[in-house]
Amino acid sequence: MRLFCYAIGVVLEFYTPNGEVPMFQKTTLFVLLSILIFAAVVSAQDWRSGIPWEKPAVITPAAKPGDPPSDAIILFNGKDMSEWNGNWKVENGEFLCVPGKGDVSTKRKFGSVQLHIEFATPAEVSGSSQGRGNSGVFFGPYELQVLDSYENETYYDGQCASIYKQTPPLVNVCRKPGEWQSYDVIFNRPELKIENNNVQVLRPGYITVFQNGVLVINRHEILGTTFWHQPPKYEAHEPTLPIRLQDHGNTIKFRNIWIREIPDTNVSPAPTREPYFAQ
Ligand code: MG
Repeated sequence: MRLFCYAIGVVLEFYTPNGEVPMFQKTTLFVLLSILIFAAVVSAQDWRSGIPWEKPAVITPAAKPGDPPSDAIILFNGKDMSEWNGNWKVENGEFLCVPGKGDVSTKRKFGSVQLHIEFATPAEVSGSSQGRGNSGVFFGPYELQVLDSYENETYYDGQCASIYKQTPPLVNVCRKPGEWQSYDVIFNRPELKIENNNVQVLRPGYITVFQNGVLVINRHEILGTTFWHQPPKYEAHEPTLPIRLQDHGNTIKFRNIWIREIPDTNVSPAPTREPYFAQ
């Protein structure tokens, strides 16, 4: 502090034109300079939240966008159906729905996830509305619609990239029939409390979807099971369930399917101390 006062004094003397400055002006300048220096020191300090964050895991991104990072679970890489239950087939590195064979489901069960999946509706167009290129990606009982919605009118909350009968997509960004498209999905599972067949929703599910790189569903609050014949409502289910692909009678192709398990919520740990400025 003495050194600081001396420095201020030197500065004041140095900039005094005649070498003599009234005490009042000296004091005023001293106070002003002190405030400026104090403000500069405080503003340069590093604010910390006091929350004991864990160190984020280090993973390796894919060489090209759309491919799986190092911590992804590969659900289909063009080779076999080893991660799936069901009777679809693999041809030319593609996972094909075989109409009439029923849905396919992952052998593993998942809760909250990031999912990447690519699909193509039939190049040869037939049918209309819900009868054209229909499939679906189900997170438990909640369907993200797959449909050929390229110049194919249907009800909006049933078109491609809708959360079936709950919300339409923000935009229709479908490619032409037969062209490969992608979904990148963030699904946060609901938290349900089940007692005597009564379902209490402690936290609803949420879903965010990018189709072909474009945001189409922005953190939609899931209203319950996506029925076709009744309003949505939550039904009892386990916290983790298979991912399911729908057989709706059309030969849909899938490829490059991978998934990452993510935390259920963004809740941060309790601070271990009040926010502070690091020294
Ligand atoms: Mg469907």
